[in-house]
Amino acid sequence: MAEQRKMAFVCGHPIAHSRSPKIHGHWLDELGIAGSYEAIDVEPDRFSEFLMRAGERGYVGGNVTIPHKEAAFRLVERRDEAAEAIGAVNTVWIEDGKLVGSNTDGHGFAANLDQRSPGWDKGGVAVVLGAGGAARAVLHVLKQRGFSEIRVVNRSVDRAEDLARTFGDPVTAHDLRDADKLLGDAALLVNTTSLGMKGQGDFPVDLGLLPETALVTDLVYVPLETPLLAAAKKRGLRAIDGLGMLLHQAAPGFERWFGKRPEVTDALRAKIVADIERS
Ligand code: NAP
Repeated sequence: MAEQRKMAFVCGHPIAHSRSPKIHGHWLDELGIAGSYEAIDVEPDRFSEFLMRAGERGYVGGNVTIPHKEAAFRLVERRDEAAEAIGAVNTVWIEDGKLVGSNTDGHGFAANLDQRSPGWDKGGVAVVLGAGGAARAVLHVLKQRGFSEIRVVNRSVDRAEDLARTFGDPVTAHDLRDADKLLGDAALLVNTTSLGMKGQGDFPVDLGLLPETALVTDLVYVPLETPLLAAAKKRGLRAIDGLGMLLHQAAPGFERWFGKRPEVTDALRAKIVADIERS
């Protein structure tokens, strides 16, 4: 009997910009799997019905993106440890008839740096700019990887304080206006703010204050070389873009739904880079 074609989705609102169908489509072709992965625009007032009936409609699971990640966290019947720690769900699947949720953003962040800058996690001080959803995933991983001090720096300092309370020691909260004072002993600088996205201006942090050995990474990947990464390279620092995080965060979901672990290869990266350059 022919194997049933497995179907997965990414849902968000809006969703047209999502590059996930290209990533999963590449892996389905490469691994010769007869499955599908489609983008579905779901407005917030329809999200609960969509998610709870996804299994009935024949989906094995899918990705959940802006603005539904927190709603998915509340709706799933079971969550893994990463979802619990991050407080949002971006990957769902059905297991023993139950809807299960995970968050793979932290995995994507770490796997990108593991691949492109092995040894990045030898510890020390990390400075994280931003205190939104993406920052939570990064903090979860930096804590796991044993950084001795993690400074969260945000324009709205109360949001940084919330995260410092939630994640506890060694996370501390700071005002973005004090960022320059926090860089002198940093081993790692991570931008998780949306600053640097296409059309935005310069970055409000002086990279000249970082040690020569510091690694700089940006979660923003459109443009691929953000003003922060360009400034880091100009100073001779190691600089890693955020596209790898997007590619790596997709892999655990694919394996859950389609049964094979895909690889983040140069060919996949080149395909998505070409798509970004066209946009
Ligand atoms: P979010 O929850 O909306 O948080 C946005 C953050 O950016 C907040 O800390 C906000 O500060 C800060 N910010 C926005 N505009 C600012 C400005 N003009 N000056 C200073 N700070 C500003 O967003 P998110 O979900 O965390 O996502 C953040 C970025 O990460 C987005 O660009 C997203 O595309 C990217 N991302 C990339 C990946 C990947 O796979 N590479 C994954 C997830 C997210 P306030 O709190 O003061 O508003």
